[in-house]
Amino acid sequence: MDTGVRIETAASKQLVRMRRFYLAAGAYAACLPVLIAAHYVGLVPLAPMLRLAILMVGANLAFFAIFRSGVNQRAPDPSLTWPQVLVAIAILMYGVYYFDRERGLALMLCLVVLSFGAFRFSTREFFTAAGVVLAGYLVVINVLMWARPTTVNVPIEAYRWLTLALVLPCFAMVGGRISELRRRLRRSNEELNSALRMIQKMATHDALTGLPNRALFNEALVHAIGQAQRHRRSLALFFLDIDRFKNINDTLGHPVGDRVLQEVGQRITVAVRASDMVARLGGDEFVLLVEDFAETPDLGDIAAKILGAFGPSFHVDGQELALSASIGICTFPDDGSDAQTLLSNADIAMYRAKEQGRNRHCFYAAELNKLSQERLALEAALKHALQRDEIEIHYQPKIEFGGGRVTGVEALIRWRHPHLGLLLPDRFVPLAEETGLIVPIGYWTLRRVCERVCKWKEQGISLSVAVNLSASQFHQPELVKELAAILWSTGAPAQALELEITETMVMKDPDRAVAVMEQLRAMGVRLSIDDFGTGHSSLGYLKRFPIDRLKVDRSFVRELPHNGDDAAITGAVIALAHSLKMTVVAEGVEDQQQFDLLRDQGCDEFQGYYCRPPLPEAELMRFLNEERGLFARGARKAERACG
Ligand code: C2E
Ligand code: CA
Ligand code: CA
Repeated sequence: MDTGVRIETAASKQLVRMRRFYLAAGAYAACLPVLIAAHYVGLVPLAPMLRLAILMVGANLAFFAIFRSGVNQRAPDPSLTWPQVLVAIAILMYGVYYFDRERGLALMLCLVVLSFGAFRFSTREFFTAAGVVLAGYLVVINVLMWARPTTVNVPIEAYRWLTLALVLPCFAMVGGRISELRRRLRRSNEELNSALRMIQKMATHDALTGLPNRALFNEALVHAIGQAQRHRRSLALFFLDIDRFKNINDTLGHPVGDRVLQEVGQRITVAVRASDMVARLGGDEFVLLVEDFAETPDLGDIAAKILGAFGPSFHVDGQELALSASIGICTFPDDGSDAQTLLSNADIAMYRAKEQGRNRHCFYAAELNKLSQERLALEAALKHALQRDEIEIHYQPKIEFGGGRVTGVEALIRWRHPHLGLLLPDRFVPLAEETGLIVPIGYWTLRRVCERVCKWKEQGISLSVAVNLSASQFHQPELVKELAAILWSTGAPAQALELEITETMVMKDPDRAVAVMEQLRAMGVRLSIDDFGTGHSSLGYLKRFPIDRLKVDRSFVRELPHNGDDAAITGAVIALAHSLKMTVVAEGVEDQQQFDLLRDQGCDEFQGYYCRPPLPEAELMRFLNEERGLFARGARKAERACG
């Protein structure tokens, strides 16, 4: 493409030169009738007139041949301005030699020749050319005085020469100025053109990745649809979204995010054919237009190739990042007949790919539309859920294995949807995370929990409450300040609050995480690692984290005691936590066998349906009162409290 541009400009430059040549040839052509007229009024004899005419035609033919052959392109000035001017002056000097009666005419023609230099010459070159004319005139007169003295009237020729010597420098000055102005005009014209090209590029391309932007892509898509319609062909649209890109921006900052986007753009471009159009719509959304493909399985191959391009880790600013993407695919005419529908359906399919677990592609199907509409409706309703007081908190007790004592509760949010009823977090927390609504919801939960802690305290119940923190909240710079403000304004003791964070949240940027955790601990808030075992934490860091509790993920408890691997894992986690002076909580304990095994392994506390599911506040109070009653009556075991 680059060489194409170069060839094109070289060709267009040669065209400009040819035009210059024709201009000069035109000037000669204008001189010829003047010459013939001069002969008829008796100023020039026939033979010199013919010779002059032949010289003019001959010179032009020679120059024409040179320009056409392209030999001129090797010259320092491929327009051959100097050779042209010198040859013209020489021919005119030959004329001066024979214009016995009217040498002034030939000299006037000299001015015409020089004026052509105005298109090319600098003032200095004009002076040189003027000098050549004056010198030539001097030589011709001297030769005439020697060869044909009768034809020379010395005072008149001296007068002419002096007049020329006065006029030519002025002419050179004016000519030089004109040519300078022309050059400036051309330069600003070029600048204007390149600015115009840049504006055009900016309007149609994404500044970060250099890929076509939404506007250009839409235009191309509309055009491609028209073509496909006319030729009864299909086309495919891929919609790609980087998985969890928001996390990268939030944790590593926007400059890193930008570099990732650039790299992603490159990788996609390399993975697809040159004829397929890749564009960035904005954010972390990329699209691909595939105009010719044989059958649908081909599209799956293309998607696999793109996802494969995400395989090697990304290296940005010394960080190694593992990334993946989700792709939605739809085709014309099956899944939509206009650009807008196709884009929206590919987007819907992309969401489906995310829901199915990310790092995959998904083809659009009409049923997805319904799902997506539900999702949009849910998203819209979630925006108002807080103001409309639809979010509630349920509390699940944590029980000590040894004494059956309730050591605290975990706050788990629910959404009482006006039409859909009580929704569990898996229906709306991922949505809240994607839309950022999880941050206000998270702060609301913290405040509500703190208020409850105070209220219960007044009722004589001192209970510690564990609250789940979302990744975006944990990475908010204001977290510590906001939490301090909530504790201060509600008057809740920090010791009553425990924050649950996951391994993945802290391992993104462990040094920063340690700093935040230490600030939280300094306030008196306790910390636990949730879903332990499902992320990847480094043991080295685990030692550095100021953590009070590890919560063994439910997935390791589910198949206990039959699954030997899981039993080995829970045993090892319990031993590890104890060696790090942490308490261990087993999640999702549902039956007596699980309970027994974990107790025998030395686990400290458990949560699960074996005791109670998450309870609304009133039920929690009832449970706690019963439990207090049991203790008062000397009940010993958790089996009794929970059974
Ligand atoms: P999680 O933090 O791991 O919460 C424990 C989940 O296990 C809860 O699901 C709880 O109801 C469930 N569970 C407890 N015992 C048992 C059991 O014996 N068997 C089974 N099968 N499940 C049990 P839930 O309430 O649906 O919450 C799901 C997830 O939603 C939570 O997982 C947590 O990650 C998230 N979540 C809940 N509340 C909040 C919140 O306020 N903020 C944030 N950011 N996330 C929350
Ligand atoms: Ca939790
Ligand atoms: Ca958990």
